[in-house]
Amino acid sequence: RKVSAFTIHDVDGSSAQKEAINGIAKEFEVSTENLRTIVKQFNEDMDKGLQRHGATVAMIPSYVQGRPTGKETGKYLALDLGGTNLRVCEVNLLGDSKVTIHQQKFVVSNELKTGEMRHLCDYIADCVDSFLTENGSDKLDNDLQLGFTFSFPVNQTAINRGTLMQWTKGFSCSGAVGKDVVIMLQDSFRRKNLNVHIAAIVNDTVGTLMANGYRDPKSHMGVILGTGTNAAYYETMDKIVKWDQAPTSTKEMAVNMEWGAFDNERRVIHLTTYDNKLDRESINPRLQTYEKLISGMYLGEITRNVLVSLIDRSLLFNGLSSPDLNKQWAFETAYMSTIESDATKDLSDTQHVLESILGLPMTTLVDRQMVKKVCEFVGVRAARVSAAGLAAVLSHSNLVEEGCTIAIDGSVFEFYPNFADNMMAGLKELFGEQIENKVKFALARDGSGLGAAVIAMMAHRAA
Ligand code: BGC
Ligand code: MG
Repeated sequence: RKVSAFTIHDVDGSSAQKEAINGIAKEFEVSTENLRTIVKQFNEDMDKGLQRHGATVAMIPSYVQGRPTGKETGKYLALDLGGTNLRVCEVNLLGDSKVTIHQQKFVVSNELKTGEMRHLCDYIADCVDSFLTENGSDKLDNDLQLGFTFSFPVNQTAINRGTLMQWTKGFSCSGAVGKDVVIMLQDSFRRKNLNVHIAAIVNDTVGTLMANGYRDPKSHMGVILGTGTNAAYYETMDKIVKWDQAPTSTKEMAVNMEWGAFDNERRVIHLTTYDNKLDRESINPRLQTYEKLISGMYLGEITRNVLVSLIDRSLLFNGLSSPDLNKQWAFETAYMSTIESDATKDLSDTQHVLESILGLPMTTLVDRQMVKKVCEFVGVRAARVSAAGLAAVLSHSNLVEEGCTIAIDGSVFEFYPNFADNMMAGLKELFGEQIENKVKFALARDGSGLGAAVIAMMAHRAA
């Protein structure tokens, strides 16, 4: 299913429709050559980020040193904010890599995501409070330690200190950028008389890496391919040139790359008009360029932009749209998963999405074939550029020969059809067939909660 310039994409439509589809295929194509260029730039940008503060790929030291042994024990709380839901977890580490987790999900409304930071923190505190009330008998003693997974770019200054650099993924609360988010949340806990101490602030990628390391010592990277995208990996201390604090006792530290910002400069990634439209209409134009090609928040919107332009050229749906399809963000990435996995002869699952959900009056088989193709182009490109990021870390860390486990979480990785295969195909083009036997993708579902708890434990023990 490699998309290359030499693949002619067939739909049973008119020659104008065929031509349009092949043109779009070309626009979304990422050749092996392109992949190599992207990897090379990625490697340079990683080095820049390790050398100085304020680089585009921020390469943030996480203050998480050393790896979990699996022998850790104790009860810890974890909070997970930054994807689709807010999760509160109680993690009981039992040793022997065993663990039990109780968790509860809470909805974060759009008002909270875009309102005042103080309100968001108060809401989080309320959620923790109600979780403890419902689940807690022995949990009312003081000294509850909490690992806070906060999945945004945070410039950390300690294991439980850090200022928000900017919002991503549709969050835009006022009064947060430049502030220490741990202090703000801890204040809300205090106002509500919650005996909970935030022992660590953790990026979800670092949490995912640690959670998987708890089970598999070959884990080298934690990657999120979900609402947003990012990666963390273990870096040797002497390569973190910008680290200007006291020497650490261990030789390595997890680095939160914040790779979503890769190529904000637009040097090596080719953006289509559909990408530019999405970017311009987003709340963070010119930022998170790489993330906007890959993650679940955006793939549907890119696809919608393509579909609407085909409609405007009278090449799709007989030139007619629907009020829903005309709405920004209305075409969800989850629909793409349904459409891409539609194996029915008349594409009836696709028809359901288009007609029953999006309210298009009537679609033909050719319409549905075209929509399916467009989803495929957007999805394959996302997987291929993701592969470039993985490849950059593998070569940076000299692991192409030795191999490693890459722990991955997120809806795009878990549910998008063929995403893992398409990423692996990209890695094979770059490194040869044998890479498949060396590098393992491990699904680490909701790993960041466990990871944050493990990190809170390590921090508490060290304090
Ligand atoms: C954030 C990262 C986070 C990623 C995945 C990005 O938008 O900047 O901090 O790890 O999303 O949740
Ligand atoms: Mg998550």
